[in-house]
Amino acid sequence: PPAVPPLERRARVDLGAVRHNVRALRARLTRADGTAPRLMAVVKADAYGHGAVPVARAVLEAGADRLGVAHVAEALELRAAGIAAPVLAWLHTRDTPFAAALEADVALGVSSAAELEAVAAAARAVGRRAVVHVKTDTGLGRNGCLPEALPALAARAAALQAEGLVDVEGVFSHLAVADEPERAQETDAQAGAFAAAAGVLAAAGVPARVRHLANTPAALTRPDLHHDMVRVGLGLYGLSPFAGRSPEEFGLRPAMSLQTTLAQVKRVGPGQGVSYGFRFRTTGDTVLGLVPLGYADGVPRVAEHAPVAVGGRHVRAVGRIAMDQFLVDLGPDAREEVGDPVELFGPDSGIPADAWAEAAGTINYELVTRISPRVPRVHV
Ligand code: PLP
Repeated sequence: PPAVPPLERRARVDLGAVRHNVRALRARLTRADGTAPRLMAVVKADAYGHGAVPVARAVLEAGADRLGVAHVAEALELRAAGIAAPVLAWLHTRDTPFAAALEADVALGVSSAAELEAVAAAARAVGRRAVVHVKTDTGLGRNGCLPEALPALAARAAALQAEGLVDVEGVFSHLAVADEPERAQETDAQAGAFAAAAGVLAAAGVPARVRHLANTPAALTRPDLHHDMVRVGLGLYGLSPFAGRSPEEFGLRPAMSLQTTLAQVKRVGPGQGVSYGFRFRTTGDTVLGLVPLGYADGVPRVAEHAPVAVGGRHVRAVGRIAMDQFLVDLGPDAREEVGDPVELFGPDSGIPADAWAEAAGTINYELVTRISPRVPRVHV
């Protein structure tokens, strides 16, 4: 294993936890008859901030079948690192390098007839058949083909498949409210639309061999929606998509810890203003600790009062989070010193990423994804 650099400022990513999560998910996905859907590990956005290449290697080692990303550029980054596993990229623009994707054996989501034509043109140009997964909009309203446009797309796909330019391997869609179990009816409506979409492709002579709809929340709680494959992102990282339900409930272990050390410790009296806007003022004698992480590192500016562990003791952030630093109130009897370990969230302290997400009025997905490149990722 690589030596762990000194604890300056780091997002420590426990690849053992990632591997554990893949195995835990696989076990959960296995049906009573021993069959299981395939597992696509979603490693877009630098694996939700965890480091795409090391995470991709770890998930494949632990039994993930495929990788999923939004952009072709993300897929090419995996290929450049020597990762040869099947990978699907699904969000494109007119300038997406489809030819490079095909040469790198990257499967492509297609959301419209125009996108299909662009992919087929690239296939013709490079002399390689494009593996495509038709993305259908079953209600989320983001990318994907609406039901009314699907018959024409399917007919064109059938013609291009007959020409040997494309192979319609998959059909997929994305769910809008699977993280809100009380809204099962809306998810059911999407599932119905998805079945209809798969039927349209089959009727056109391009039956998809791999149907996939479920994200992490549906993978965890809706076995009826597992189909041939599930696309799991958040769960790989040991985070829960459900408000108020911990990852541990699902046998998942958080992988990321955001850590540093105290950069300064100051004893102050009452009335001391703290950080921009003086949004916090001390009310008595206390000790303030300086944490050298800020919003340029992805610590949300608005997350005042979020919990922080200093040497294992839980205290609170006070005052505005600045670009590079913020303060914690250690209390009048503090014994902490410069250099003591600080953890904003992570399994060592038991502070969940959700606590910071909540303090910032956002979700754990956004919090970890936005930990910036200025924070070294240390994979252990
Ligand atoms: N599938 C698609 C199309 C996505 O955009 C995403 C992420 O947003 C996922 C799957 C993974 O979702 P989750 O992280 O909830 O598993």
